[in-house]
Amino acid sequence: MLPLVALVGRPNVGKSTLFNALTRSRDALVHDEPGVTRDRHYGVCRPEGQRAFAVVDTGGIAGEEQGLAGATARQARAAAEEADLVLFVVDGREGASALDDEILAWLRKTARPTLLVVNKTDGLDAAAAINDFARYGIRDAIAISSAHRQGLDELLAEVLSRV
Ligand code: GDP
Ligand code: MG
Repeated sequence: MLPLVALVGRPNVGKSTLFNALTRSRDALVHDEPGVTRDRHYGVCRPEGQRAFAVVDTGGIAGEEQGLAGATARQARAAAEEADLVLFVVDGREGASALDDEILAWLRKTARPTLLVVNKTDGLDAAAAINDFARYGIRDAIAISSAHRQGLDELLAEVLSRV
């Protein structure tokens, strides 16, 4: 079985864009399991000449108004709990938010290995973007731009060193 990497984060940080960049496929390798994992989308990342791993896009934590009580949040939690590595995806443009804090708090409860991925850093100073999340105390944060496919090689190297 392939190692499983879960993409977790609040809505709109670019999880699905990252999922598509990693799996290089919008639909082909994505499937839903109706009624069971409605908001979990699985694919496979096959980096050239390197080990493959499975990726799950958790489809978004519930909106701010729902906190973490919603069904999608439970799905995200289930995906994180079964993952070998969680990519905690945040928005480098908006910086750390209260919902990020909340997600990180429950990620810590799952005790899964977690890598902080600061997305949307195209046109930004990567070090400064990462620094905004320094208080999370997650070592080895990676700055990427999913939309522009920047930083993906570094991200892949980091993921493969951990799974
Ligand atoms: P999700 O809700 O976390 O799955 O986020 P999406 O992947 O749907 O992306 C939300 C929005 O952010 C979309 O408009 C994307 O085009 C945009 N986006 C995603 N990744 C990047 C990025 O690396 N840079 C920029 N500038 N925009 C991005
Ligand atoms: Mg999404």
